[in-house]
Amino acid sequence: MLRAQADTMMAQLQAINARISAIKLERGANPARDTDANFSGMTSKATEVGGVVAVVEQNECINCEICANVCPEGAITMEDVAVIDAQRCSGCGLCVDECPNKAICLAIPKEAP
Ligand code: SF4
Ligand code: SF4
Repeated sequence: MLRAQADTMMAQLQAINARISAIKLERGANPARDTDANFSGMTSKATEVGGVVAVVEQNECINCEICANVCPEGAITMEDVAVIDAQRCSGCGLCVDECPNKAICLAIPKEAP
């Protein structure tokens, strides 16, 4: 029983790693991830156009890093789970499409108090 579960998890891990490798090949290096611009005080890109931003359901995130690798804005960093910087997110939805655990959705940003 445990052996079967371990085999299943190993297969899932290999599939995730394969997908990450494929994404990196498809997109090449993502320079946006390496920038360290100061976004404080800026309005979210998505908010500026009246759009949506990506939101992570923390309980569903399995920390595979796929979303961080596909994000063209460099808006996702990995801590215990994926963390999305709403200031950088453009609401493109790539991370939603690629997340293997359906842990990300697009939502309308909350108004600042
Ligand atoms: S949000 Fe999804 S794609 Fe991103 S690390 Fe978590 S499980 Fe992986
Ligand atoms: S919606 Fe697009 S810009 Fe926003 S975090 Fe996901 S991949 Fe990045």
